[in-house]
Amino acid sequence: MSWHYSRVDHLEPKATCIFCGRALKSLKGIVISDGAQEAYAGPNCAKKHLGPPEERLLDVARLALLVVSPGDPDSLTPAPDDLPPHSGPKTGAQVAKVTAVPVPGIDPVIQYLRLRYEAMSGFRFQKSVWLTEAYSAFQADGELDEFVRKRIAGTIRNAAEQKTVFSMRNIKHCIGFDHWLREAITHTHPDRREFLEAMIAKLHNRWCLTSGQIAGINSWGQGLRKRIDDFPHLDVTSFEGVVVPDFMLPKSKKI
Ligand SMILES: [Zn+2]
Repeated sequence: MSWHYSRVDHLEPKATCIFCGRALKSLKGIVISDGAQEAYAGPNCAKKHLGPPEERLLDVARLALLVVSPGDPDSLTPAPDDLPPHSGPKTGAQVAKVTAVPVPGIDPVIQYLRLRYEAMSGFRFQKSVWLTEAYSAFQADGELDEFVRKRIAGTIRNAAEQKTVFSMRNIKHCIGFDHWLREAITHTHPDRREFLEAMIAKLHNRWCLTSGQIAGINSWGQGLRKRIDDFPHLDVTSFEGVVVPDFMLPKSKKI
């Protein structure tokens, strides 16, 4: 049986990536399973060998994998990565067998609402009057009435058609970048956080980053990987083709 995603969980000390053998030093990491046994994988290797994960509702660490590059082009030792999954080094990488938890079904309307309200704090325009009403109703009743549900579904559909920053795809990418930038900040001395904080501010303002900004984060990540081996290389095309509405642009840049 081939490897599939199991969950994101606390890593044991000395955990290593089953594909490339790198030590995984984050507190939490990706656990994969082949049905009989489990192993750990670094974010880039997981994306490369297993593909994009099926995201569970509000599993931010899992959403964060959406913006990771498949494989790490900056890696100086790419060779072991190209081994077929089961022949990778296994020393210390295996963990005890655990019963798989079934993935809950995802209701896109609820998912959209909860991602906006529970996973995007700090983002400008995170809330709107009517979405806040919808979210309060959802919190009170655990469901939405048909009118509100249709309105949110319409918003999701329009944003997808117009490829705006408010699309489901894009908010997931925003949450992913927010996750990795926070992770990078946590592992950077307070005196040296200026660049990362500027990037997170841009992300929160415009709900996207340019490929140049992502390349900058990747350069930063190269330094970070000396301490945090599993800080991933991020996909510079994550926000390609995404439309930023006029009202989010600085006034001088309006056409
Ligand atoms: Zn790896």
